[in-house]
Amino acid sequence: MLESNTTPCRCLPLVIVEGFLGRTGSIVWGHFENYLNKDCLGCKRKIIFSSVGPVSSLHDRACELYYSLVGGTVDYGEEHSAVHGHAQYGRTTQGLYPQWSSENPLHFLGHSIGGPTIVKLQYLLKQGFFSSRAHPDWIRSVNTISSPFRGTQAVYILGECTESAPRVRSCSPGSIIARGIHIISYLSPILPRALDLHTESRRMSFHDINVLSLLKQLWKSDWAESFDCCPYDVSFTAADEREAIGEGEPYPGTFYRSCATYMTQKVGGGNAHSISFTSSMLLSPMLFMARAIGSFDFSTIRPVPSFLRSGDGKEQDLINRQNNLPEEYRANDGVVPLFSQWHPFPCSSTHCQHSKGPPAPGIWIVEQWNETTHLSLVPLWISSSPQKRYWLELGCWLRGIEMVKT
Ligand SMILES: [Zn+2]
Ligand SMILES: [Zn+2]
Ligand SMILES: [Zn+2]
Repeated sequence: MLESNTTPCRCLPLVIVEGFLGRTGSIVWGHFENYLNKDCLGCKRKIIFSSVGPVSSLHDRACELYYSLVGGTVDYGEEHSAVHGHAQYGRTTQGLYPQWSSENPLHFLGHSIGGPTIVKLQYLLKQGFFSSRAHPDWIRSVNTISSPFRGTQAVYILGECTESAPRVRSCSPGSIIARGIHIISYLSPILPRALDLHTESRRMSFHDINVLSLLKQLWKSDWAESFDCCPYDVSFTAADEREAIGEGEPYPGTFYRSCATYMTQKVGGGNAHSISFTSSMLLSPMLFMARAIGSFDFSTIRPVPSFLRSGDGKEQDLINRQNNLPEEYRANDGVVPLFSQWHPFPCSSTHCQHSKGPPAPGIWIVEQWNETTHLSLVPLWISSSPQKRYWLELGCWLRGIEMVKT
C-alpha cells in the first residue's frame, strides 16, 4: 500500500466502448477495477468510459470515439456526410485524453458492437481520416467481449430484410425499436441526459422537424433503413463489404484479444444448436434468440454471405453448403454466433491463435467461454466468478503488453 505514494502509475489507461443501446457507465459496470488492478503494485489504472452514440453506425461511432478522446467538434467527414445525408459536424467536447498520441497510446475494451467500433477507429486512423498526425499505433491493444465482427443472424431475426438489407420488415421488433429511437430523439431536448442518443447530426428532434415529419419517419424510418446505421452494420453484407476493403486487418504493432461467449450446444442429427437446461433458466428473449440463431436459414440471404460462397462465387447448392457449415456458425451467446466473435476475416486470411498465449503484436488471441451469454461478463456487475476471472486475466494481459518492448 505504501507503494501507491512512492510509485507513479505507469499503466496505460483503458478506454471502454459500450455496445448497442449501451450507455450505462461505471455505476452499472461495478467493482471490476478491484480485479483489474489486483496484481498491480498499489497503483490504479485509469479507466475512460467513452461517449459514443448508442444507436449510431460504426463510422459515426468511431468518429465520436475519436473526438471524445482528443476533444473538439466531431467531424464525420465531408464525403461521408454528403453520401449519407446527415450533418458533417456533431457535438463539441473537452476531450477525455487530449494527450493521445504514439507516445501516449491507449488500451481499448469493446463490448458487443463496441469491438467493431474500435476496429473501425483503427482503420480510419490508418487511412489518415482524422489528421495526418493520427496513427494506428495510438491503439496499443484491442480487447473485445462478444463482438459481432462478421455480422450476426440476430439482425435478420429482428427485422432486417434478408434479400434487401437495409430494408426493415414492418411490424418486426427491429422496426418497433426504430420507432422508439425516433420518438426519444424527437423529444431529446427535454429528456434527461441518460437518454442521450447522439442523434443531433440526423436532425430528428423537435427543434429540427415538425410532427408531420416525425409521423412519416415512424411510418418508414430513413435512419433505420439506411446504409449508415447500426443494424445494417451488423448484417453479413456490411461485414463482407468491410473485409473487401481490408478493414480489420491486424496492425503489426497492436495487441488483440477477443473473448467469444456461447451458451448453446449441438442438438439432433444436423448442425443446429440450441440451449442446455441450465442456460434455459436465463432471460427468455435471449433464450428465444439463441434458438433462432442456432437454427437460422442462411440460404435466403442476398447477396450470399462470403462464408456460403464457393471458390467460383456460384450460388448453387446453398442448402448443402449451409448444412456443412461448422458449428461455430450456430453456437451463440443469444445475440452473436461464435465465428463472428473471434475476429474480422476468416482464420485462413488473418493472424490468429485460438488458445492462450503470451502477448504478441499483430495477432488475435481468441478465447472461448462456454455457458456464457452476451451479457454475462459485462455490463452489469453481479460479482460472479466468470466476471472476476475475466477482469483478473485482463489486468495480467494488459500488464504483460506493457512489459513487451516495441
Ligand atoms: Zn498502474
Ligand atoms: Zn454517418
Ligand atoms: Zn481465427
